[in-house]
Amino acid sequence: MKYELPTLPYAYDALEPYISEEVMKLHHDKHHQTYVDKLNAAIDGYPEFDSKPIEYFLENIELIPEQIKQAVVNHGGGHANHSFFWNIMKSQGGNVPTGRLLEAIDKEFGDLEKFKDKFSNEAMSLFGSGWTWLVTKESKLKIISTQNQNTPLSEGCTPLIAIDLWEHAYYPQYQNRRAEYVKAWWNVINWENAQSKFIK
Ligand code: MN
Repeated sequence: MKYELPTLPYAYDALEPYISEEVMKLHHDKHHQTYVDKLNAAIDGYPEFDSKPIEYFLENIELIPEQIKQAVVNHGGGHANHSFFWNIMKSQGGNVPTGRLLEAIDKEFGDLEKFKDKFSNEAMSLFGSGWTWLVTKESKLKIISTQNQNTPLSEGCTPLIAIDLWEHAYYPQYQNRRAEYVKAWWNVINWENAQSKFIK
């Protein structure tokens, strides 16, 4: 089995004006596709990847053959992270978390605004390319960053939301203004999706 590029769960322009159609087309059709292609090239000849989602291997990286381990971490991580990313955003997002997730955010970070400040500061201070995440680990909420396409799945965490901080995620629209991109991104979060991952 080959891994496949998932279709976006909304139109390319659905996240306008916060994330432009141009960025979404490039990001999904070119960048994500390239991760899928390079992942498929890396696992060619390794039938153990048949019929298992890539997340399974990223959660159990000791199962990845040594010769292709870094390629799978890089490109498999890129495939998993982007598949996750498309789904934690939506058109007309910008609502707020509710219910048990909001209670947990209040408990861990003080309130929603304090959480957003802390998360944004973490995203702004990430050096180089990577991601900032809200995760649960042992039923506790944590903000973490990962370099490159490393995923919190490999650290025993369950991701709830994440922002892609590679320049390809915002440069055509925001150029070097990462802070504007981070601020805009809060408007497109699919909190219902985050909430359902949290309850699970
Ligand atoms: Mn990306």
